[in-house]
Amino acid sequence: MNRIVYVNGSYKPYADATVHAEDRGFQFADSVYEVIEVLGGKLVDATRHLVRLERSLNELSMPPPMSNGALLHVISRTIKLNRVRDGLAYLQVTRGEGPRDFAFPSIGKVAPTLVVIARSQSQAKIAALAETGIAVKTMPDIRWGRSDIKTVMLLPACLAKDAAKRDGAKEAWFTDAAGNITEGASSNAWIVTQAGVLVTRQLDNRILGGVTRATLADCARAEGVAVEERSFTRAEALFAREAFITSASNTVMPVTSIDGQTIGNGAPGLLTQRLRSLFHHSAEISDL
Ligand code: PMP
Repeated sequence: MNRIVYVNGSYKPYADATVHAEDRGFQFADSVYEVIEVLGGKLVDATRHLVRLERSLNELSMPPPMSNGALLHVISRTIKLNRVRDGLAYLQVTRGEGPRDFAFPSIGKVAPTLVVIARSQSQAKIAALAETGIAVKTMPDIRWGRSDIKTVMLLPACLAKDAAKRDGAKEAWFTDAAGNITEGASSNAWIVTQAGVLVTRQLDNRILGGVTRATLADCARAEGVAVEERSFTRAEALFAREAFITSASNTVMPVTSIDGQTIGNGAPGLLTQRLRSLFHHSAEISDL
């Protein structure tokens, strides 16, 4: 099947889906993005993703490319044109194209660039991975001071993921100067302590406020499971009973080893598995 990508007002064949050489997203990473899960031909947590997109745009004084209603229409159409039932919708907004100048062009001088891509992803494959759990590798968090904004400035994440991959790990967990885990390269980090308490880092400028993180915290609390939002060290994580990551692409994915050390008994934890099975019941599921 021919893949179709939305670029600035047109649905284009994959090979022709290009942006300008002087697009500020390309030259300065002056750009934000979202990744939304598509499950059974429906969108998962669309509202929370659009709220976060609005926040990212606001923090960078970028005007939205269109209304949320129009954006949802473009996302839906891109998903349908690509016949995605289970997978991901990716959307990226840049400040637009213009002569290379570090300072922002005045609002209204440039039109934002909007790209939407839809891609299938096998639920069976993710489920198989969740049966065994994944390994993670820790490394220093060398990202900028505003990791709460979902920008495409992803080179530190690429470096970390690549180093993790070379070590046989699926995800990298960043550590700050104090030895605390901040988050994953493309996920939020969670542990279950020996006392059975669910812990994830508090929201601040060092981590992205994950949509999956927010929905899972709601889900856990609704189940009567306490959630502590606080910093935790690498040492505490190594000693944890369970560990997992959350992201739109994997929902809840068990972590069974950190830096080669087994977590718990080396199998996905019971609470982790329970939360994974409950997640989509707590999420907002909307028709295309
Ligand atoms: N942190 C980072 C750095 C990420 O890139 C992501 C995924 N985009 C997340 C956390 C998880 O966010 P979400 O649950 O919204 O996918």
